[in-house]
Amino acid sequence: AKSAGRDRLRFFDPAMQLAQDQRMVLETELRLATELGQWRLYYQPQVDAGRRMVGVEALLRWQHPRLGLLLPDDFIGLAEDSGLILPIGLWVLQTACAQLKSWEADPRTAGLQMAVNVSAMQFRQIDFVAQIKALLAVSACRPERLKLELTESLALDDIGDTIDTMLALKGLGLHFSMDDFGTGHASLNYLAQLPLDQLKIDKSFVAKLPGLAKDETIARAIITMGLGLNMSVIAEGVETEAQRDFLGTQGCDECQGFLFSRPLPIDALQDYLDEEAEP
Ligand code: C2E
Ligand code: CA
Ligand code: CA
Ligand code: CA
Repeated sequence: AKSAGRDRLRFFDPAMQLAQDQRMVLETELRLATELGQWRLYYQPQVDAGRRMVGVEALLRWQHPRLGLLLPDDFIGLAEDSGLILPIGLWVLQTACAQLKSWEADPRTAGLQMAVNVSAMQFRQIDFVAQIKALLAVSACRPERLKLELTESLALDDIGDTIDTMLALKGLGLHFSMDDFGTGHASLNYLAQLPLDQLKIDKSFVAKLPGLAKDETIARAIITMGLGLNMSVIAEGVETEAQRDFLGTQGCDECQGFLFSRPLPIDALQDYLDEEAEP
């Protein structure tokens, strides 16, 4: 009887119930966030070896009425489980394309690339290519400036379908980067079949550079592979000069991380550009 009591206690765990209630409330709010205009895009600079900004990664934020500015880790999982990632992802792409278009007017920003994260559910939509085509037509932005970031698990889930979709989008002019490279379970042979333009070294391999021999070797191997396959290589999570120096010496083309800038709202990004332009 005692153990049954304990089981029942565990079953009606009030903390678990609370977490579940909160999840349901959050999902209801997530459902309304798009029409209430609560999404924000933040932009994190990507810089070349000379520290010039060559592009940005668009990172989603939720301006929540009660909880403040939420990071993706707080809601992306819920958005994916509920299917809401589809309208949200479309909003992200629309906003990114509109931003690219407005950059075309200024020679200082006209050459910038915009990297956008794409979730698997979004990429697997039967009409994803048509959606992108329509988006490009409406925004009239240059497709070459748009770069989609895919993950290994997305890419390998159905590699034939992935390659078909990538090739169709590359036909429109888009570019592709493999996000979090090295963290998945994909064989290099598989990954090398994808029509990628860029490999992105995951920040977990960057954190202990230089000094940790294992991660130095991994970073070097990713750079060698990328350059050997005619791709560019970017490192994320670059926080120190020492990391940047090591990566630069190894031939890594681009860096992104707090050393250069945190993700910024559009006004602050403009300030960053203005400062960069000063002699
Ligand atoms: P990610 O694509 O790997 O993005 C990089 C994350 O690293 C971002 O977190 C960024 O703020 C953070 N970061 C940047 N520089 C540094 C650094 O120097 N050090 C450290 N420690 N971290 C750094 P964030 O913005 O919280 O985004 C988390 C994840 O959410 C992203 O990881 C991406 O997978 C997902 N995400 C973001 N925006 C979108 C979106 O629009 N759609 C989808 N499907 N996923 C998104
Ligand atoms: Ca990313
Ligand atoms: Ca990443
Ligand atoms: Ca990552």
